[in-house]
Amino acid sequence: MNYGLHLGALWPSVRAGLLCEQKYGALLNNFAAADHVPEELELLNAADFISEAPQKAQQWQRSAAEGEAAGGCEEGTGEGRTVVQAGMVTQAETSPPLCTSISSKIKCYTFPRGDIMRFRPARPDALGLLDYYLMDAASLLPVLALSVQPDDFVLDLCAAPGGKTLALLQTGFCGHLAANDISISRTKRLHQILHSYVPKEVRETVSVTSYDGRVWDQVKGGTFDKVLVDVPCTTDRHSAMEEDNNIFHKRRTKERQMLPMLQLQLLMAGILATKPGGEVVYSTCSLSPLQNECVVERALDIAGSQFNINIHVEDLSHFRTLFQDTFSFFSDCRLGELVLPHLTANFGPMYFCKLRRV
Ligand code: SAM
Repeated sequence: MNYGLHLGALWPSVRAGLLCEQKYGALLNNFAAADHVPEELELLNAADFISEAPQKAQQWQRSAAEGEAAGGCEEGTGEGRTVVQAGMVTQAETSPPLCTSISSKIKCYTFPRGDIMRFRPARPDALGLLDYYLMDAASLLPVLALSVQPDDFVLDLCAAPGGKTLALLQTGFCGHLAANDISISRTKRLHQILHSYVPKEVRETVSVTSYDGRVWDQVKGGTFDKVLVDVPCTTDRHSAMEEDNNIFHKRRTKERQMLPMLQLQLLMAGILATKPGGEVVYSTCSLSPLQNECVVERALDIAGSQFNINIHVEDLSHFRTLFQDTFSFFSDCRLGELVLPHLTANFGPMYFCKLRRV
C-alpha cells in the first residue's frame, strides 16, 4: 500500500520484479589466480558493467546529441539527467572527473538486460581462494560511490556477512579496513568470506569487531577517511519472498517501527567516525523513503544542530547516466539514488547517498 503511493505508476513493475528471481553479478576476486574467468564469462555474453560503463554512457550521450541535432530537444537518455540545450550537451555527466571517480579495480560481471542466465557456483584456485563472489550487482554501487583512495582508512560499520567488505578490499586501496557488525553469528560469516577470498597478508589489514555501531565514536571517533553505513532495513526483496524471520511479521512490529531510529543512530555514528573532509555512504536495500531520504535529512539536521558539523550531500546523478544500461534507477529521489527492481534488470532495491563532512 505504501510503495504504490510512493512509486505510483512504477509500482506494478517494481512489485513484479520483487516477486521474481533476482539477478546476480559475479564480483571477480582480484586475489585469486583466475585470469581465465573473464574470458569464460565473456563467452557466455556477460560483461564487466563497471569498466564498460563510461563508454556506454558516452554512446548514450552521443545519440542524445545526434537526436537533438536532428531537431529533437528532449532528454535523450530516458532515465539519466543529461540536459540537451541549444545544440550541446550541457551537463556531460561522463566528463573525466566523473569517470575517474569510479574505481576500475572492482570488476563485476553481469548478463545483459533481459538475459536471466545464472552464473555457475564459484570455484577455488590452486591455493583455495574462490574466483568470484555472487551478489546483487546493485550492492556494489554504494562501494563505488565511496570511491576509496590509496591508503584510506575505511570503516564498514555494519559489515556482515561481508559482500561490500570484500568489494572494498578489491579496490586494493584500503590502508586499513575496520569491519564491524553487532551480530556475532553474522560476523562469523564475514570471517568465512574473508578466509575464502582474501590472502592472509591482506586479511591482516582488516580488523573485525562486533561492537554496537551506535557507540562507535566511543571506540574511535573522527579517524576514518571513508565510512560505509549499510544499515539493517526492511530488506524488501527478502521480505516479499521469505516467511522465515520476516520483519513484517506481527511479532517484529516494534522492531520494524524502530528501524528508522536505529538507522539514524548508525548514520550519526558513521558521520562522527569520519575525519573532517572524509566521506560517508549511507545505504539500504529498501524502497522506503522513511528509511532512505528521511534518515539522511534528519542526520543532516542533527549533525548541524547538536554537533556543529556541516555536511555536504554529494551529487551522484552521474551514476544514473553511467549505469543506466545495467540498472533501473528511480528518478525522483530527493537525496541520493535508488535502484528499482525491474523484470529486465532484476537488481536492487538499493538506496545510497554520499555525504562529505566539511
Ligand atoms: N554490509 C553487509 C554486506 O554487504 O554484506 C550487509 C549489512 S546488513 C544490510 C545490516 C547489518 O547490520 C546486519 O548484519 C546486522 O547484524 C547489522 N547491525 C544491526 N544493528 C547493528 C548495530 N547496532 N551495530 C552494528 N551493526 C548492526
